[in-house]
Amino acid sequence: MKKLVLFDLDGTLVNAGGCGRTALTKAIEELYGVKPEFEHSLISGRTDIDNFSIVYSLVKKGKKPTAADMKKMTAKYLELLPQEVHASVRCKRYDIMPGVEKFLTLLSKEKDVILGLGTGNLEEGAKLKLEPSNLGKFFTVGGYGEDGHTREEMLQAAVKRAEKKFKTQILPENVYVIGDTHRDIVAAKNCGFHSAAITGGFGEPQKLQRAAAELEMKDFKDLTTFCVWLGVKTDPKGVKRGSYIMPASAIEHVFFSRTGIDEDRLKMLRIKKYEDLESGTIM
Ligand SMILES: [Mg+2]
Repeated sequence: MKKLVLFDLDGTLVNAGGCGRTALTKAIEELYGVKPEFEHSLISGRTDIDNFSIVYSLVKKGKKPTAADMKKMTAKYLELLPQEVHASVRCKRYDIMPGVEKFLTLLSKEKDVILGLGTGNLEEGAKLKLEPSNLGKFFTVGGYGEDGHTREEMLQAAVKRAEKKFKTQILPENVYVIGDTHRDIVAAKNCGFHSAAITGGFGEPQKLQRAAAELEMKDFKDLTTFCVWLGVKTDPKGVKRGSYIMPASAIEHVFFSRTGIDEDRLKMLRIKKYEDLESGTIM
């Protein structure tokens, strides 16, 4: 049975020094003559096309972009991104996440593990941002920003590509998502995938904690824990298990223990919880 491990890019594989945000700000300013002002947390963990749409609405007082606007913003963003990536590297604002190269090297030797990207970046943008790190070589498939407005659509697209490329069915329980914001974790859970949070990235700590990933790690220095989580190594404490689900709440615990609640009701509870997370009603 193949396992698919999907890595988010910004704040998980690399910290690209905010080059995407700068390129987007400049693109909007060049196209529409207004410099958008926004917090990093507004856009981190979302897909690029979602971000283009949000920032467009910000400068156009709530107006939604047309398909032509989206095309223009995409082209301008990709035109400006390479120089911003180079600027990040030059100013030493570009960092590779500690331990991630070793982790990817190790996983690439596992014959039943497929490595993929699960990023909100456009495919071309992801390539540009990963270039200085040389990590792109590890990934054979990916889900990208152009796959949809939501991370769920993007993750599902990555799974479909992996199934096609490796001519095999990949069950949700064999998909592992690693990301640094609560949006990565929520999307993984909504798809029924496993989730691990990197707390040393751009995620807001309280929201990330509330999203309750199965595994929380600062970075990739402790590879044994990651490998036990992925089920490619046995637990050094002698517990024989593969990957496991850590329930996010008592209600989910009930669900996973199969003692009553149905899936639709659980979904409703999750939607309510994650809406509250997004709006800041719960922290
Ligand atoms: Mg990220």
